[in-house]
Amino acid sequence: MHRNRKAKIVATIGPASNTKETIEALFHAGVDVFRMNFSHGTHEDHKRRLDIIRAVETEVGRPIGVLLDLQGPKLRIGTFTDGPVMLENGARFRLDLDNKKPGDQRRVSLPHPEIFAALTEGARLLLDDGKIDLQVERCGPDFADTRVINGGMLSERKGVNVPGVVLPMSAMTEKDRRDLDYGLALGIDWVALSFVQRPEDIEEAKEVIQGRASIMAKLEKPAAINQLEQIVHASDAIMVARGDLGVEMPAEQVPAIQKRIVRMCRQLGKPVIVATQMLESMINAPVPTRAEASDVATAIYDGVDAVMLSAESASGKFPVEAVRMMSSIIDQTEADPFFIETMKASHSPARAEIADAIGLAMRNVVDLLDAAATVAYTSSGYSALRMARERPKARIIGMTPKLSTARKLALVWGVHPVLTHDVAAVSEMTIFACQTAAREGLAKRGQTVVIAAGMPFGTPGTTNLLRIAQVE
Ligand code: PGA
Ligand code: MN
Repeated sequence: MHRNRKAKIVATIGPASNTKETIEALFHAGVDVFRMNFSHGTHEDHKRRLDIIRAVETEVGRPIGVLLDLQGPKLRIGTFTDGPVMLENGARFRLDLDNKKPGDQRRVSLPHPEIFAALTEGARLLLDDGKIDLQVERCGPDFADTRVINGGMLSERKGVNVPGVVLPMSAMTEKDRRDLDYGLALGIDWVALSFVQRPEDIEEAKEVIQGRASIMAKLEKPAAINQLEQIVHASDAIMVARGDLGVEMPAEQVPAIQKRIVRMCRQLGKPVIVATQMLESMINAPVPTRAEASDVATAIYDGVDAVMLSAESASGKFPVEAVRMMSSIIDQTEADPFFIETMKASHSPARAEIADAIGLAMRNVVDLLDAAATVAYTSSGYSALRMARERPKARIIGMTPKLSTARKLALVWGVHPVLTHDVAAVSEMTIFACQTAAREGLAKRGQTVVIAAGMPFGTPGTTNLLRIAQVE
């Protein structure tokens, strides 16, 4: 089977989507990559879900990608003596390092010395996804006296954002390292790093991961946006994490930043995901708002590789409906003739390297001969990525002997991954590619297939051959 669309769907699994039946239904509704959010749940929860995903993968006979999302250095306040407290506008509120003493209406602990070290008078602290706004009036190495600018009810362990301050900490905590070890041992395809601030954060993760998974940087800090190009270069993929991004900086700046990130990723040929609140109202309703439908479509017109669901599929009332709706919005958008025009018009120049020369030629051949499908023989996935970067009109069949590559490519725009054996000669390669295109329903007899491969076969990084063939 194959999907009719080119953009992919990432869906978070959680309490609302735990069972075999739901995960299977989610796949059939359109999920290409499942996201396991390690901010929630135990290791056993995640293992059980992964086992189900792999069982479904075997049953449906299609590679399914799995993304492990690490919590990262999410900053949180401590606990309160008597439950949630009310912070009135204009009141004073103290934050300190005393993690042993539960808080009250006048103070609470914030067990992160690095925050106090970086704070200055006048700095803002945003609590609970930005709902509560505190301004620092006085601070020292172990405390901050603040004035409540925007008050409200505050409950324990809520998140804290410090906009505009680069905190001297790595993107991986001790918990992240334990989670990562666990996930890598289980066998996952993508690792998402939260709150990336610098390209060095990616390098640090690379040393731990050692090629056992691909790395996705979640862009949700202003500091990361200041070094956007270096971070995109260092990462295998990017997530526009609009939830925290919209707290760290004014929400009205998020759309322009989203578009800038997507442009940069498309230019460099790195898969890019737009995430958070895409169909938010479907957490509680069986249909989205018009604005949400439009948000998904806009991301598709921008040429993103994937769009993502969070609470909609993890804890909402309509997980399967949300995926079905997202899939249908993508189908409708990609069927618009203006969409293909937009992909062409937003194309950026290729690099002076062989893989890109092949990709560029492939796209021209597809247009000129109206080819039904293209095929990339790929070991690491690199040549399929460079072909996807061209955003061709025809689907890219990513043929690979490596299961890990097939699963990884499930995230990539226009790529239909197929697990295959190695081929030995050009004639075999051609016949096999045409047979696969026909079998997968992507090309009919008499239609043209454009094949990219590397000689000698089976050697990564050698894409140097473009073959045009007809399905017999
Ligand atoms: P999160 O990341 O759901 O892990 O916070 C996504 C976001 O911040 O948008
Ligand atoms: Mn986040």
